[in-house]
Amino acid sequence: MEKVRTRFAPSPTGFMHIGNLRTCLYAYLYAKKHGGTFVLRIEDTDRERYVEGAVDVIYRTLETAGISHDEGPDKDGGFGPYIQSERKPLYLEYAKKLVETGGAYYCFCSKERLASLGGENGVHKYDKHCLSLSEEEVEARLAAGEPYVIRQNVPAEGVSEYDDMVFGHIAVPNADMEDNILIKSDGMPTYNFANVVDDHLMKINYVIRGMEYLSSTPKYNLLYDSFGWERPHYMHLPPIMKDAQRKLSKRYGDANFEDFLAKGYLPEAVVNYIALLGWSPKNDREKLSMDELVELFDVDGISKSPSIFDEAKMRWLNGEYIKEMTPEKFVERARGFLDKSAVAGKYDYLKIAKLLIPRVEILSEIPEKVECLRSFGKFDPTMFEHKKMKITMPLALEALQKCAELLPSVDEWTDESLKAALNALAEREGKKTGQIYLPLRLAITGVATTPGGATEMAELLGKEESLKRLDFSVALLKEALS
Ligand code: GLU
Repeated sequence: MEKVRTRFAPSPTGFMHIGNLRTCLYAYLYAKKHGGTFVLRIEDTDRERYVEGAVDVIYRTLETAGISHDEGPDKDGGFGPYIQSERKPLYLEYAKKLVETGGAYYCFCSKERLASLGGENGVHKYDKHCLSLSEEEVEARLAAGEPYVIRQNVPAEGVSEYDDMVFGHIAVPNADMEDNILIKSDGMPTYNFANVVDDHLMKINYVIRGMEYLSSTPKYNLLYDSFGWERPHYMHLPPIMKDAQRKLSKRYGDANFEDFLAKGYLPEAVVNYIALLGWSPKNDREKLSMDELVELFDVDGISKSPSIFDEAKMRWLNGEYIKEMTPEKFVERARGFLDKSAVAGKYDYLKIAKLLIPRVEILSEIPEKVECLRSFGKFDPTMFEHKKMKITMPLALEALQKCAELLPSVDEWTDESLKAALNALAEREGKKTGQIYLPLRLAITGVATTPGGATEMAELLGKEESLKRLDFSVALLKEALS
């Protein structure tokens, strides 16, 4: 098998759409799986859409996602330049070659003439008017400096066909295809031309991209044929949808890779999740590292139908990645969120980490989960009531008073020794442990959900603060019952 060369060819738009990242990932996985080369090419010929700093977003995304390119603007592999705007003279040169072979022609039609062609819904198909100009006339008009474009000369009859690795046999009647512009009046190539010239010159033999290009590909193949170049293999990918009708879109705030990172998703979990959007491994495993993805990736597993982006599922998967972290790793990854939370500068992050690891799915949940460590004050005493545990307010008060007698004598203020002391207390009093732990946890936090149990929260708060809060809650209950 020839050495596989794939490429990711993003346009610098200023953000990375999840769908584009998935295309990138599949192109990377396919290359790596076959010991091939993965190329990054920047498609910036559409100057109107150019956004400052947008190329940095592309580099940053690849790096964060753990996708490393073998060749690109910053890694010359001998097929550069890898930025289309730097290749501008090349396209005109190749377009002129195509004019010589009859695969393309100069067109001088004015905007007005094109508009007058009318057609269905105002969308006209170019009528090949300039194809009939004599060579002399073309020469004369070029010499006079008339503005021109270069158009592809698509045969009027016949059918163009190819086999897509995902979608199978694709056949488009030539009559349905337009003589697209290859070189615009500003001398820049269109995507329709640049992708072919670049993929050929960069020896890309597996073109992997979104399915919006599926039906234009026969036209690109005609260009390969006119040049006498070998066609590449194609793998087109179905879109990622928000729901049955809508595609994921930046407009709905659900498509930008970096937005998910800001929400506390781990890049490796996002990459893992999107790998499974449109592809599934034979063994149906869900949590897969990049190495495992490389090993398992295969074209047969790619689906033809659009996939629905399920954030709840990605969130769950993210939680699975968090559960495997050591407290040290968790602190390292979550530091940004911890620093902005109630525990910043006051609590031992490693202790907090132990409590949070099994309890958070995405890192942005951290501030809310630990908020109870900051604010403590008057709360609703009926929260002490617990039907299932048969806890009433008077019983809670009794339990807390026992705790208030016992706990000052506990010297080693740790989760374990507090548990030992409270378990012994429950036994002495003939109570279920929950009848002690539940009121105590509420008494020292004032909230129903906490990142840890009573003794874990007490250890975090420390002896002095815990006892102070306990006294406060005893008084709160007494007042409510008086
Ligand atoms: N620049 C094109 C895009 O962002 C690339 C399409 C392709 O991969 O050929 O859609």
